[in-house]
Amino acid sequence: MLGAGLAGSSLAKALADKGWETALLDRQRFPRHKVCGEFLSPESQSTLQAFGLLETVKVLNPSIIDGIRLIFANGAAMELPLPSSALGISRYSLDSALHGAAQQSGVQLQTGTTVTAVHPIIGGYLIETKQGGEISTLQARTVIAAWGANQRSGLPGHRQERLAKPSYLGVKSHFHGVWMERMIELYFFPGGYMGICMVEDGLVNVSALLNRDAFTDKGKSTLAILDAAMKRNKRLYEKLRGAIPVEGTQAAVAPVQLHRKLQAWDTIPLTGDAVTMIPPLCGDGMSMALRSAALCAPLADRFLQGNLSSLDWQQSYTRSLHREFQGPLRWGGFLQRLFDQPLVSGLLPSAARLAPRLAQVLVRATRLKPYS
Ligand SMILES: Cc1cc2nc3c(=O)[nH]c(=O)nc-3n(C[C@H](O)[C@H](O)[C@H](O)COP(=O)(O)OP(=O)(O)OC[C@H]3O[C@@H](n4cnc5c(N)ncnc54)[C@H](O)[C@@H]3O)c2cc1C
Repeated sequence: MLGAGLAGSSLAKALADKGWETALLDRQRFPRHKVCGEFLSPESQSTLQAFGLLETVKVLNPSIIDGIRLIFANGAAMELPLPSSALGISRYSLDSALHGAAQQSGVQLQTGTTVTAVHPIIGGYLIETKQGGEISTLQARTVIAAWGANQRSGLPGHRQERLAKPSYLGVKSHFHGVWMERMIELYFFPGGYMGICMVEDGLVNVSALLNRDAFTDKGKSTLAILDAAMKRNKRLYEKLRGAIPVEGTQAAVAPVQLHRKLQAWDTIPLTGDAVTMIPPLCGDGMSMALRSAALCAPLADRFLQGNLSSLDWQQSYTRSLHREFQGPLRWGGFLQRLFDQPLVSGLLPSAARLAPRLAQVLVRATRLKPYS
C-alpha cells in the first residue's frame, strides 16, 4: 500500500485481516500534523465500523459534534443539524491510531520511505523506494496507491491537468482558549473560509482554505496567514482574538485542486484523495477516502485469490466509485462555486430561512450514503 493516510491504513488493515502479507509505506514520519478540518462526518463512522476501526477512534476521546454553523462575512448565520453525531479528532492522533490497528492486524508499516517508481513486472510490480539516502526495491503481487492528492510526476495518479483557477492554499493550527458548542463553525470571507472544530483534549483545530491569489502577500508563516484570514470576518476575529496557538501544530499545503476528475485506476488502483477530492467545505474527504478503501478491499482480495482478473477489478471498482461518489461530488462542487461568490453566499441565510428544507436537502446531497 503506497501512502499511510486514512485510505492506505484502512485498506492495508482489511487485506491483512484477510491473511495477505501487506506492507504500508509512507514518506512521512508519524505522528504528524496535517492540513485537515479534522471533522469526521457521521457517514465515515459506518465505514470505520466495517473496518473494525470505530472503537480505535472512539478511545482517542474525540469531541462530539451535533451540527454545522455557517457564519457569513456580513455577520448573518445559519445552523444545520447533522443526521447523527460527527466526531472531532486530530489527524495527529487519528492517523497514528489507525497505523497501530493495522500493525496489530499484521501490516508492516514503513515510514520515512518515499516511493519513487512503480514498474509492472511479470506476476506483479517492482516498487522503488528511497529512505534517507538509501534506495531499495520491493516486489509485490499487487500495489494500491493511497498517496493523496498531489503525486510527483512519473508516478501513477499524477495529473498533468493545468492548474485550474482559482487555486487554493490549505492551512491549519491547533489553538486553546476557544469556547465551542457541539458545533463545527465555518466562517466565510472574501478569498476563502475557515473552519473551527473542537478536537480531543479541549483543543480546537482552525483550518482554512484560501484563494492563493488573495493571500500571496500575507506573510510566509502559517499563523500570519491564519491571522490575515480571520481579520476578514468580524465575528471570526472576535471568536479567535484570545486564542493561543499550540506550538508545532501548524501545517500548510498548496496547491489544493478541487476540480480533478474522478480517476479510479492508472496502471494500479487509486484510493482516497488520489481518486478525486470533494471540496473540503463538505467535510467528507476522510469519509470518501475510507469508502474508496472499503470498495477496493474485497475486489483486491478476490484478485489475490485468483477469482477476479485485473480488468474485472478495474471495471467493477470504477463503476462502484462512480455510483457512490458522483452525486456528492457534483453537489459539493456546486456548493463550492456558490460560496466562492461573496454576493451570492451573502444571500444564503435569507434563502435558507425561506426554504429550510431545501438547504437541508442540498447539504444531504453532498453526503455519502451510510456504508452497508
Ligand atoms: C483545508 C482542508 C480541510 C479539510 N477538512 C476536512 C474535514 O474537516 N473532514 C474531512 O473528512 N476531510 C477534510 N479534508 C480532506 C481530507 O483531509 C482528505 O480527504 C483525506 O486526508 C484523504 O485521505 P487519504 O488517505 O486519501 O490521503 P492522505 O491523508 O493525504 O494520505 C496520503 C499519504 O501518502 C503519503 N505519500 C504521498 N506521496 C508518497 C510517496 N511518493 N511515497 C510514499 N508516501 C507518499 C503522504 O505522506 C500521506 O501521508 C480537508 C482537506 C483540506 C485541504
